[in-house]
Amino acid sequence: MKLHKILEFAHSLLEKAISPNDTVVDATVGNGYDTEFLAKLVGQNGHVYGFDIQEKALNHAKNYLDKKNLLTNITLFNKGHETIKETIPPHLFGNISAAIFNLGYLPGGDKQIVTQSSTTISAIKQLLEIMRPEAILVVVIYHGHPEGAIERDEVLNFVKSIDQKEAHVLKYEFINQKNNPPFIIAIEKR
Ligand code: SAM
Repeated sequence: MKLHKILEFAHSLLEKAISPNDTVVDATVGNGYDTEFLAKLVGQNGHVYGFDIQEKALNHAKNYLDKKNLLTNITLFNKGHETIKETIPPHLFGNISAAIFNLGYLPGGDKQIVTQSSTTISAIKQLLEIMRPEAILVVVIYHGHPEGAIERDEVLNFVKSIDQKEAHVLKYEFINQKNNPPFIIAIEKR
């Protein structure tokens, strides 16, 4: 297939937005696979700030990233992404070039622990304030579980309401696939 699959498309957007030495955010660290991708893009002198509410997931991610020698330029917070503005050092405001959210539950983890629209939307709003112009925010929406369908609708309503003078908002979705495949919302701050 020549079209990017969903995660490939998310990664291609991040690759275009991120340069070595950048500061970026992984809003849903989980097992740390996106954190790894980001850490490699920002390099030794860049920094990744990661958030997750599950300590167990963060411990797994820390071990995984340590084995890859990537922990030196990563800071992981066992906190919700809705605390982004109070957690990230204020001197970095205006300097963040990209962020990613992978919504839903952790694959292989507790399926009862899922992202929620109110905290997801709060974090997106905060990031739009503190990211630099032309920064990219990628949201991968998984909506096959009941709370996921609610989160999908509320996040979509919110992002559709963002003023086009403030950001470009794109939806990337396969529309003929079965079983509620994930899709992407990409937001480029103007
Ligand atoms: N990107 C991850 C990876 O590469 O493994 C997968 C992320 S998983 C789909 C979603 C994660 O979001 C879960 O680990 C869950 O604990 C986390 N989460 C749920 N609510 C959160 C919140 N308010 N803030 C930060 N993380 C949250």
